[in-house]
Amino acid sequence: MPLLPAFAAPGRFFKGNLHTHSTRSDAVREPDHVCSTYREAGYDFLALTDHFLPQYGFPVTDTRPYRTNSFTTIMGAEVHAPATELGEKWHILAVGLPLDFAPTEPAETGPQLAARCAAAGAFVAIAHPQWYGLTLADAESMLPAAHAVEVYNHGCAVGSDRGDGWALLDALTSRGHDLHACATDDAHFKYPDWCGGWTMVKAESADPQALVAALRAGHCYSSQGPEIHAIDVTGNEVSVACSPARSVTVLGHASADRVVFGEGLREARLDLGKFRPGGWARVVVTDDLGRRAWSNPFRLA
Ligand SMILES: [Zn+2]
Ligand SMILES: [Zn+2]
Repeated sequence: MPLLPAFAAPGRFFKGNLHTHSTRSDAVREPDHVCSTYREAGYDFLALTDHFLPQYGFPVTDTRPYRTNSFTTIMGAEVHAPATELGEKWHILAVGLPLDFAPTEPAETGPQLAARCAAAGAFVAIAHPQWYGLTLADAESMLPAAHAVEVYNHGCAVGSDRGDGWALLDALTSRGHDLHACATDDAHFKYPDWCGGWTMVKAESADPQALVAALRAGHCYSSQGPEIHAIDVTGNEVSVACSPARSVTVLGHASADRVVFGEGLREARLDLGKFRPGGWARVVVTDDLGRRAWSNPFRLA
């Protein structure tokens, strides 16, 4: 394999937040204010994903009026249904839903709802697994509907120090499941929970359908700040090109890891030999401020 698919795909990277709330559910900013927040922060796109619950009238918030020539929106929602292994409502991120997506029925389970979102064309992500104790069994019951795990949820990180999703995605990957990663804000604007985690999507245009198709295909990486320009796997070596970094790390099955440190690293080459037995690897780029960018996991031939 030469370039990983996210980097080999045609087009350019578009920066987006895939998970945000507004006054249409439990957040404190109006939809137009939420959209202007991201537009003015230089994002290329936003998915406003209000809680799809009866008390809010099952909203798929229409953000089309807030699109401009350089900023687009994707319709979506955070959908809920009973019940996880720990007895809570599921939180499932669905990006790319039709505006008339049918309300949930009381008997519909989380995995059934995830499958209905995927069938409706959405990119489906397992939201903030650490925040509410989602188990590996829960996550496996979502397959194959789920395309990704939210590996960083900024709102959960800032608000409750439970923003991680990598523990779950690493375990799923080691069990043979091919899911992608995404980083999001899950902003509610009650405290500083916006513009901290985003997903870079490689597509030929910022057309919402093209962005959703690219997400479903895994043509993306996740970031809190650093940029990843290319990841190339040739022979037994991975080479990474990135914005100036303090370290470049490769992780894989169980304890498999390898790291290169430096000052202002813009490229790194790491040997993949120790990752071959586990069959997969992923790349982390960390900058001087400790902010990270994450590739999706990839299989080693
Ligand atoms: Zn949630
Ligand atoms: Zn949310």
